[in-house]
Amino acid sequence: MIPAHTRPRPPMQPLNYLAGYPEHLQQRARELLAQGALGEAVRRRYPQPHAVRSDRQLYDYVQALKERHLRQSVPLGKVLYDGKLQVLKHALGLHTAVSRNHGGKLRASREIRIASVFRDTPAPFLRMIVVHELAHLKEAEHNKAFYQLCLHMEPDYHQLEFDLRLYLTALEHEVPRQALHSPPAAPARSR
Ligand SMILES: [Zn+2]
Repeated sequence: MIPAHTRPRPPMQPLNYLAGYPEHLQQRARELLAQGALGEAVRRRYPQPHAVRSDRQLYDYVQALKERHLRQSVPLGKVLYDGKLQVLKHALGLHTAVSRNHGGKLRASREIRIASVFRDTPAPFLRMIVVHELAHLKEAEHNKAFYQLCLHMEPDYHQLEFDLRLYLTALEHEVPRQALHSPPAAPARSR
């Protein structure tokens, strides 16, 4: 028996970035999404932008973190923002899955590619993803040793990864609604 006054639930859309996190966290994210408030909630918590714009600046940024935390690891090769990299497929993987080739390939080439979406994220998210990729210089897989390295470089790693996933979820689902990329004259969709 379902009471008639039950508030309609937000539609169950798959939240790909949050797969593997507990259902109550996903549900909270869906509620904020339904209110169009998820992106804003994350941006309020992470107001700091960063100034790492070019590949050269990215190289220096990665090198500085590496010098501080991972001196013993292999020298860096190329470091660049990559517009073709999909964060979910190439960088973070599904939270529960171990992606076998992802780190290994990067380690072999000593190359660090950062999805270009990070050019415009809050500063802590860039640090988190760079820490992730630096950890792959030593550990190919997303195993315990890998996450220990991440935590060594960034004690808030797990919280930042979750909040980054919220941010990316908001980008995926809220951007069309906010019409950030639409020309100002575009007609409203639903009238
Ligand atoms: Zn990885």
